[in-house]
Amino acid sequence: MPHSAFPAPPHLLQPLPATQKVLVVDDVPDNAAVICHVLRGMCDLTVAYNGEEALALARQHQPDLVLLDIRMPQMDGFEVCRRLKADLETSHIPVIFLTAVTEPHCEELGLNLGAVDFVTKPFRAPVLQARVRNHLEIARQRQMLQLLSHSDALTGVANRRFFGTQFSREFMRLQRLGQPLSLAMIDVDYFKDYNDHYGHMAGDECLTRLAQAIFGVLRRPGDMLARYGGEEFICMLPHTDLDGAVQVAQGISGAVNSLALPHAASPISGQVTISMGIASMVPAPGSRTQQLLEQADKRLYQAKNAGRNRTVWADD
Ligand code: GH3
Ligand code: MG
Ligand code: MG
Repeated sequence: MPHSAFPAPPHLLQPLPATQKVLVVDDVPDNAAVICHVLRGMCDLTVAYNGEEALALARQHQPDLVLLDIRMPQMDGFEVCRRLKADLETSHIPVIFLTAVTEPHCEELGLNLGAVDFVTKPFRAPVLQARVRNHLEIARQRQMLQLLSHSDALTGVANRRFFGTQFSREFMRLQRLGQPLSLAMIDVDYFKDYNDHYGHMAGDECLTRLAQAIFGVLRRPGDMLARYGGEEFICMLPHTDLDGAVQVAQGISGAVNSLALPHAASPISGQVTISMGIASMVPAPGSRTQQLLEQADKRLYQAKNAGRNRTVWADD
């Protein structure tokens, strides 16, 4: 998602990739080759030979660590670091300066710009390897914490808190762009009866399978599914108007029907069913996120009142 501070938002709890990525930035190809040789086998390596290229590759590849030379023509390493740290999409990436510049004030400047380490050339290979390994480990732990703090523990989709921050951000972004934002509020029908009949553990499994089926319908990178409450989910659909949201809702209904999870205690069907309330708006100046949430919630309530197992996208 291009407007996130994190490469692939964890809408579904996925293991982090096994191999981490390091971007090596050095204007002298021989130097870059030596660094790559030393780090070979520890990580996936990409090389940038100037500052502009480094910034573009950092945005595009989202490396876990950047090794940054200082003396480079056009844009020096300090400026590259400054720009990486000023950009929401790259500010989280740790930077190690790796440089032949040894004046003490340079180390101070580099660290104060936000670099995590400062290594002078010539370096000893085992020392560079150890530093890179340590910083990659810290990066991994930080990513893991972020993933966990954004995810719902049972279903693996986004949790309500992460939904809240992303929703506010998207609302403001689409307000600036004058683009629509839609919500689908989803609630499982007669789920208390499901638990009473099949047991709470089966209920948990049912929620997980529903979340995965609904998640599978979402196609665009900015789309998000979150667990909003016990047996309530919410879909956020940026750049999507009401017609588009209704189409997605039809896809969700289809996916839940195809799951065909038995619900012998349901008064309306032999299978697990859901009700949905859809709301959409082009966020106008002065409009609030709460309005869109309330409208989706109100329509969900109408869907329940009208008999459940249906989607409502207009007011009575
Ligand atoms: P309605 O069709 O009106 O939505 O009826 P309902 O029974 O689904 O709604 P109600 O709000 O009365 O009950 C929701 C139930 O969802 C209550 C609770 O037992 C169950 N539930 C909520 N969170 C969880 C969970 O994490 N795991 C399980 N197994 N059940 C949950
Ligand atoms: Mg319910
Ligand atoms: Mg409910």
